[in-house]
Amino acid sequence: MKRVIRFRYVVMILFLCSSVLFSQKLPTGAFHDNRPRDYDIHHYKAELEFDFENRKVTGTITIKLTPLRELNSFSLDAIGMRIQSVSGVAGMTFKSTSTTIDLTLPQSKMPKDTMAIVINYECNPQGGIYFRRDQNNTKLFYVSTYGEGGLHANWLPIYNDVNDKFSTEMIVAVPPPYVVIANGELLDQSTRSNGKVAYHWLQKLPHPNYLISIYIGDFEKGDLAPAFGEIPLSYWVPRGRLAEGAYAFRNSTKMIEYFSRRFNYRYPWVKYDQIAVPDYAIGAMEHTGVTGHRASVLRDASAPDDFGPPALEEITSPWSAEATISHEAAHHWFGNSLTCRNLSYIWLNESFASYLMMLWDEESLGQDQLRYSVLVAKDHYFRFVRNHHMIRGLEHHNFDNTNAIYNTEHTYLKGAAVLHMLRAVLGDEPYFRALSHYLHKHEYSNVISEDLKIAIEEATGENLHWFFDDWIANGGHPNFEVSYRYLAEKKSIDLNVSQVQPIVKGQDLFKLPVKITIATPSRTWQERVWVENESARFSFSCNEKPLMVSFDGEGDLIAEAKFNKDADELIYQAKHDAVPGRIGAIRELSNHFPVDNRTAAALSEIIASNAFWAVRAEAALSLGSVRTPAAQQALEVALKANDYRIRKGAVLALPKFGVAIAEPRLKQVITKDAHTDVVAAAILALAQANPKQDPSFIARQLGRKSWYDEITIACVRAFGVLKNVSMLATIKSYSDNRYNQDVRLAALQGWADLAPADKELQKTLLDLTHSPVYALQQAAIGMLGSLQVKDATARLQAIVEADADANLSVPAREALAEIERAQK
Ligand SMILES: [Zn+2]
Repeated sequence: MKRVIRFRYVVMILFLCSSVLFSQKLPTGAFHDNRPRDYDIHHYKAELEFDFENRKVTGTITIKLTPLRELNSFSLDAIGMRIQSVSGVAGMTFKSTSTTIDLTLPQSKMPKDTMAIVINYECNPQGGIYFRRDQNNTKLFYVSTYGEGGLHANWLPIYNDVNDKFSTEMIVAVPPPYVVIANGELLDQSTRSNGKVAYHWLQKLPHPNYLISIYIGDFEKGDLAPAFGEIPLSYWVPRGRLAEGAYAFRNSTKMIEYFSRRFNYRYPWVKYDQIAVPDYAIGAMEHTGVTGHRASVLRDASAPDDFGPPALEEITSPWSAEATISHEAAHHWFGNSLTCRNLSYIWLNESFASYLMMLWDEESLGQDQLRYSVLVAKDHYFRFVRNHHMIRGLEHHNFDNTNAIYNTEHTYLKGAAVLHMLRAVLGDEPYFRALSHYLHKHEYSNVISEDLKIAIEEATGENLHWFFDDWIANGGHPNFEVSYRYLAEKKSIDLNVSQVQPIVKGQDLFKLPVKITIATPSRTWQERVWVENESARFSFSCNEKPLMVSFDGEGDLIAEAKFNKDADELIYQAKHDAVPGRIGAIRELSNHFPVDNRTAAALSEIIASNAFWAVRAEAALSLGSVRTPAAQQALEVALKANDYRIRKGAVLALPKFGVAIAEPRLKQVITKDAHTDVVAAAILALAQANPKQDPSFIARQLGRKSWYDEITIACVRAFGVLKNVSMLATIKSYSDNRYNQDVRLAALQGWADLAPADKELQKTLLDLTHSPVYALQQAAIGMLGSLQVKDATARLQAIVEADADANLSVPAREALAEIERAQK
């Protein structure tokens, strides 16, 4: 007995050691379940007026609702509201708390008793609605709303969760020249005796509260071709920017028609408006039929693909403007019609919208771009797991602030890749037929993961319990070790596959189909095998010694694989495999055989070829690991490529060649390159290549005309790298309200890098906790904590107590803890 126990003790210690080594864990936080409801809302009507200067809302709302059981009293969510009157049921009384209106009925009401409750109120909202002053005309405002994660109870007394859907009606009066855009159809627009114009919008089909929205501004409207010749599509931009709107949104009609066809389910809403708002709260938000975008979406053909902030340290970002536009359009099926039942299932909204943006890539740019978009998404996810040691299922119930459940790398990027993998498991025809069935079956209702699983089962007969267990309920991904031998006498290939990922809570062994591509001098073919055990051996007959054995070269799987190969095979693969396999081989080749002459020669050949752009860009980027004279020559070829993304790959490689080579060449690029994205990347690369340089060359680039001021963003970020205090006054000046939020964020970070104890910085950050620019509010709270600003305690406590937005109050609590730690 004792022996056994001692043995188990040894095993346990080994297990602990290995889990410390890898230490992947599940995130923690409060458990979220479906919120129980007392009533069902049928229709929600709001009549609103605003005092922009004082950020004040005055409203009358009428809610038609039915009790779901016998009710004597019930509550609406209403954060920080001053309630003036409540009517609709004779004898009803109310009590207001900091987060609710509690209504008491004179006698109990039953599920047959539909009520229409009227509430008059006013408030100065701490979230959900943002009053942004125009950067050029301080008398003008942009008012926009952002409801994701339960923020609307800050400006509307409402049921503030996703599991109730109802029609909505907004009547908003504004003085000219403002216009109001909201969900649904514009029923009426009339001038009142006080000169204000009332806009009356009706959203007939039911939707959850977070998708309610209004946008107010001095917008100009542009029309796109109606979808199917019937459904109106428009875009609204700040005055003077119509041409950029026409360019940015040029493909929206095709997107709506494509998704309708792909899922055999026509766009169900009456119209589609897209609004470009300066410093919009979040990248973009799919409010039903009326998507809000950051103004960085606006552009002409000279802009990079990026949406913002500019990707200055990578060839590309998963969030191109086109991807963001298609993502929000896609939500109108997945998210707005079928809505997660609580935020723990948010993947059913976000992973889908993120995969649909890749489907639009496939439709508009081809299969190579789809596979590359999936690869970029997986790269981001793998990096996140490596840096944060955090894994979780796509369905995940434990979180405190909503940002945690919206975690981009899991919910968006890994989620999209999981849906791509599911397509590989089922095959195209059954996959899209199953998703069409899922859409039709659950239209306008709430869904959980199981609903999707059952819909697939009903449509295809497949029980995917194992897949949902591995990828939806659990987290992580397989790490494969792969090797093969060619047995000439048996004319066969022996392939060994092991799963070596740590087995920890939330991550076990995985079951997956794998495509193996085999190339010989006379033919190329594919084998499909299933991997599910810790290790497996497969045998394929093969008459000649293979030139390449590629494991998941099409990149269908979310898996990391260690597959040691010689340089000859990697070169063959880099030139001939599918795009993900080629990129993988390019990375392996440059990392493992940097000084082998064949490496630079192969990369050079790929750069000069007409291969898919990302393969060429990756080859250019990989020259940074090679750094031989031949690599330098290949770099020159890449710097002259027509496609700016290939030149950008070369720019990102340059700092690795050392200051003597990098500095003059980057300065040349900055002066001469025709694309602002290449210039911007080169400015930051120049600072990284030589952090001790005189900042005057970079300072001369400030203010150069570019999409979204990306060159100025690069300069300000570069000053943060140079840490030269002579630039402090310049950096500070870019934190001003005249600049877009990404310029300002770069300035704040640079300021903190150069003068972390500056009292003026502390005051600026404190002021920014009141900013109408959501990203600045969040950044300021975080920085007050990391800079341990004692004077911020009272303000941070007020944010915690207001409890208006968990994405502010939870970080404020964390910042307070950091400040407290500093004082100990
Ligand atoms: Zn989304």
